[in-house]
Amino acid sequence: MDFMKKFSIPMSQPDITDEEREAVAAVLRTNYLSMGPYVLEFESAFEKFIGCKHAIAVNSGTAGLHLCVRSAGWKDGDWVITTPFSFVSSTNALLFERITPVFVDVDPNTGNIDPEQVAAAVQDLSESKEKAKQWLPSKGFSSDGELKGILAVDIFGQPAAYEKINKSAKTYHLKVIEDSCEALGAMYKDQHAGRLADYGVFAFYPNKQITTGEGGIVITDCDEDAEMVRSLRNQGRAPGDTWLDHSFLGYNYRMDEMSAALGVVQMKRIHQLIQDREQVATWYKEDLSNMDGIECPKAEPTTTRNSWFVYVIRLQPGLDRSAISHRMTALGVPVRPYFSPIHLQPYMREKFGYVPGKYPVAEDLGRRGLAIPFSGKMTREQVQEVASVIRQSL
Ligand SMILES: *Cc1c(COP(=O)(O)O)cnc(C)c1O
Repeated sequence: MDFMKKFSIPMSQPDITDEEREAVAAVLRTNYLSMGPYVLEFESAFEKFIGCKHAIAVNSGTAGLHLCVRSAGWKDGDWVITTPFSFVSSTNALLFERITPVFVDVDPNTGNIDPEQVAAAVQDLSESKEKAKQWLPSKGFSSDGELKGILAVDIFGQPAAYEKINKSAKTYHLKVIEDSCEALGAMYKDQHAGRLADYGVFAFYPNKQITTGEGGIVITDCDEDAEMVRSLRNQGRAPGDTWLDHSFLGYNYRMDEMSAALGVVQMKRIHQLIQDREQVATWYKEDLSNMDGIECPKAEPTTTRNSWFVYVIRLQPGLDRSAISHRMTALGVPVRPYFSPIHLQPYMREKFGYVPGKYPVAEDLGRRGLAIPFSGKMTREQVQEVASVIRQSL
């Protein structure tokens, strides 16, 4: 396993201080390890930071996405447009409800879902069973399904093109979920990621901008949706239900108090945490942008703030990524191919009959992307060392 290997520069690193350690220890001296005051405090810190009406903490980003899907009312057999270039949980949240993910290829610069293709797909899937076929998979879906929504993902900390996505959605009364799990702190036209659609979701695994160990949060401005998400995370208990009353089929997706206490302290430090990551990304750009054979990430003009989640370089076409990765690893620098497109995962090929070639841009980015060590704790010297190892390995 990767985590057993000792690298002097880790792939990623959480930024934890004594204040976080003390906050978690303090919870353990109380009787409230779950459903106590810290979850509420964590949620209100988010409402303030994002500027949204409701933030509902859950125990993972995936759980948050699942609750948004349930709250949106998307059901068995429905079709939802989404991206093949993402972490699998954005698509899995649809599969949990037996919804068909209808993939649309991505923009070659950002890796985010292509808004022009979304517009075409929305029209075809809504208006014509015949034209819908070109967007649907070859098998494994309900042919009398209907298009119900869009699930977009803010890849690597850069928001997707929501102005166009929301416009397409509005024409056909579709709901939009923003998977902003990689984009806490990012801004699209000076608006916070997470509140660019009907629902937003953040995640707090240790490699994210802030961590709670495991955790996530759902963002919405709609009172009814917030009530439903709160109920579903807590075993389907509606307001007024007692511990053993369950109005809906729900889940235990609650965040515990130790995680929330950790999150409260991380949110106090959020501006610094994001700034530190930005500094490391700036150093990488200084050292890498003129290196032959690789491309650095670029931000769109609509991204008024990029919030760095990972640092993914792209190798020039024709370079052997696996040989380069081996050389870098041998020189003590861990790397990861990023992402392996969702439609080519074994369970997706089996269910929907996908073969390579269907989403060429996502596949090309998937073949050429290499995540290099990244965290806000990296020093100038470590960045230089990674850059020098890349140069030697190319
Ligand atoms: C991290 C992440 C998630 C959620 O991950 P969890 O491990 O469930 O918290 C969802 N979508 C994307 C794109 C992510 O990067």
